[in-house]
Amino acid sequence: MADTKYIFVTGGVVSSLGKGIVAASLGKLLQARGYKVTIQKFDPYINIDPGTLNPYEHGECYVTFDGHEADLDLGHYERFLNIPTTRANNITTGRIYQSVIDKERKGDYLGKTVQVVPHITDEIKRNVKLLGTKKQFDFVITEIGGTVGDIESLPFIESVRQLKWELGKNCICVHLTYVPYIAAAKEYKTKPTQHSVKQLQELGIQPDVLVLRTEHLLKQDILHKVALFCNVAEDAVIQSVDVPTIYEVPLVLQRQNMDVTILRKMGLEAGPTPGMEEWKKFLERKAGATLTVRIGLVGKYVELQDAYKSIDESLLQAAIYNDHKLELHLFHSEKVNEGNAAKLLAGMDGLLIAPGFGQRGIEGKFAAIRYARENDVPCFGVCLGMQCMVIEFARNVLGMEDANSTEMDRTTPYKVIDLMEEQKNVTNMGGSMRLGAYECTLKKGSKASQAYHKEHIQERHRHRFEFNNQYREQFEAAGMKCVGENPETGLVEVIEIPRLKWFVGVQYHPEYNSTVVNPNPLFVSFVKAAIDNK
Ligand code: GLN
Repeated sequence: MADTKYIFVTGGVVSSLGKGIVAASLGKLLQARGYKVTIQKFDPYINIDPGTLNPYEHGECYVTFDGHEADLDLGHYERFLNIPTTRANNITTGRIYQSVIDKERKGDYLGKTVQVVPHITDEIKRNVKLLGTKKQFDFVITEIGGTVGDIESLPFIESVRQLKWELGKNCICVHLTYVPYIAAAKEYKTKPTQHSVKQLQELGIQPDVLVLRTEHLLKQDILHKVALFCNVAEDAVIQSVDVPTIYEVPLVLQRQNMDVTILRKMGLEAGPTPGMEEWKKFLERKAGATLTVRIGLVGKYVELQDAYKSIDESLLQAAIYNDHKLELHLFHSEKVNEGNAAKLLAGMDGLLIAPGFGQRGIEGKFAAIRYARENDVPCFGVCLGMQCMVIEFARNVLGMEDANSTEMDRTTPYKVIDLMEEQKNVTNMGGSMRLGAYECTLKKGSKASQAYHKEHIQERHRHRFEFNNQYREQFEAAGMKCVGENPETGLVEVIEIPRLKWFVGVQYHPEYNSTVVNPNPLFVSFVKAAIDNK
């Protein structure tokens, strides 16, 4: 394709409408037509990246293979498109300003007054186009975080306006709004949508396509009304009705020809509608599953919908590939203890011990792990979860009383998890962990290598602390084996207890690397073990 095409996805009325899912679904539909597509997210907050944000603020922090701590929407993009994102796919206001201020200090602006327009907007535009300039992609989809009308997103919206003006047909805006149903009046209300579009128009942008988020199917007259009042063609008003799974959204949009409408607007031939066979097969397997597997997730953020997003999705994918329904039970780690673990966790076919930071809830993780280890319940420890498996083993099997990670207790007599050498002098919090994809060599015959069907893998990391190799022999002699390590540094990446059915801990985050058409093998293997354990 000659020119890269740019599609912006903005949102109005309220937040949390699923712009990320709409962007990912549209990307999927274009990809299914043979186009090369990438999706990026622009977040209007001042943090340089979400790495320093508490999950209560912003849900899960996703990590790209090149080590960028990113917005969780990048996880959706990867799960849908099955291609990796990078640091270029997630830009924040903080990064834009940092780069402009760096340039100002270097004298790049040649004495000019540096202003939001044009300097910040130019920097935003440069970042939008960065992914398109190398002609690697036919479509660059850019999701603008926040809601139209927010003060902080104004420079982004102004940049979209300018790009639409500059790029003409090669640039369109898809605006996502909400159509609420007022039960007392028994009516759907389009006014919030009209207002939100008006706000966009006041900022100089006429949306090309509207996606109406709705709980129930809207009748044609509502769509007609929205089209008329919002100055949008009727076939460009798409509805995104609530569906049981986010993975159905691409098909919902395809049925309304959203991709065809967009291609036509951008001057491209649509051609035949792709069958989406692989995607549909996944959904059919999901719908066809009758048996249930019960997985318990033990973590301190379980009350937050998005805190373990990638883990939830990886478990769901793994269950579907095992032809089972996933029944996910959430256990708050602060509420689990030695006294109640057996009773609380008794019905679980498998347990996943969540990643995390800090002391809070850590004892509950130990109690859950002890229960799993002593009762041979399949157990999967991820990052901090793996570290907890090591600590629990040290305390209760090796008799190392008060063994701990130096993250939790600097004075512990047994530092079985300790700070990495290169982390010892780091004082900067942001982006200073061991981040991104690293090699790992797996021991032949281990559960992990059987799961991956290979001995050399690459998985993504996000941690400061690690297994202390000084204790390796003691652990191995007592039955906890280090079966995966980094070939260059010897850092322990995977531990397991081979005599148990499935007891595996990984220092890395396999959940960042699991997509609809390519589920993570370790999750598939864990869920299978849980099913076999029923
Ligand atoms: N807090 C631990 C560390 O920094 C684990 C981090 C995590 O679970 N992502 O090493």
